[in-house]
Amino acid sequence: MRAYYQPQVNSVTEDIIGMEALIRWEHPELGMISPGFFIPLAEDTGLIMSIGEWMLRTALTDTKRWHDRFGLPLRISVNLSALQLKQPNLKEVVERALQDTGLEAKYVELEVTESINVKNIPNLIDTLQSLRDMGCSIAIDDFGTGQSSLDYIRRFPADRIKIDQVFVRNIGVDPDDEAIVRATINMSQQLNRGVIAEGVEYEEHLRFLRENGCEELQGYLFCRPLPAASFENLLAEREKLVGPPRTFETLSDD
Ligand code: C2E
Ligand code: MG
Ligand code: MG
Repeated sequence: MRAYYQPQVNSVTEDIIGMEALIRWEHPELGMISPGFFIPLAEDTGLIMSIGEWMLRTALTDTKRWHDRFGLPLRISVNLSALQLKQPNLKEVVERALQDTGLEAKYVELEVTESINVKNIPNLIDTLQSLRDMGCSIAIDDFGTGQSSLDYIRRFPADRIKIDQVFVRNIGVDPDDEAIVRATINMSQQLNRGVIAEGVEYEEHLRFLRENGCEELQGYLFCRPLPAASFENLLAEREKLVGPPRTFETLSDD
């Protein structure tokens, strides 16, 4: 298993603000196996618990190293599976990862997909709230593809809404999907949540999302998910272009 990282950028400056950790399985004979295929299997067998914890610790370790090397207040987003959310000791797992890696909780975002069956996860809201109390943030992944009611979304302790690629893909193609994207951005703002779009592939997507006030973007237009070493090279290249930040704290406080 390996952790890959995909940059997330500010929609106005296009500068990197963080990255999503995406798991990869490089099978010796079969080659790269997509997480869309093996994560469901890992959930069925319960292996997702140890894979999920390994992924979290790896992502936090890499992020801490990049903070120290580049002085950038990068945020790391880690996907949580439904099974991890049911795990009674999830809070301790996250706490231990923070302690052992030395990364501050405010840089850690945990992504929860909207398509999980919330009724099957007892105490989900309490669990997420306890992670927020620790200082982590919560993002609703794949927003718009699940079955949440607006009332549930209002009560859901999320800091950010992540607009799903199925809608972003149709910007410039389908006015209905454009309306959904616009409405999601507006709703996020009205509810005081951050908003990020995933699957941004074309200039037209970028232009539309920027014009409609989507704050953050992620997609192939900016960068594909990269292995840790390549991601680190990207940060080094960026530093050569723009120079090191004035100080870490002046950037992280805004
Ligand atoms: P996700 O969390 O919604 O991740 C976004 C997916 O979109 C990733 O697929 C990413 O590679 C892909 N992507 C990024 N930019 C673009 C783009 O511009 N166009 C298109 N078409 N795709 C783009 P990936 O890496 O194959 O991951 C698939 C799903 O597997 C993820 O969806 C997530 O639900 C799950 N996953 C990945 N890593 C982990 C993990 O560590 N733990 C858990 N529980 N699930 C994971
Ligand atoms: Mg995600
Ligand atoms: Mg998603």
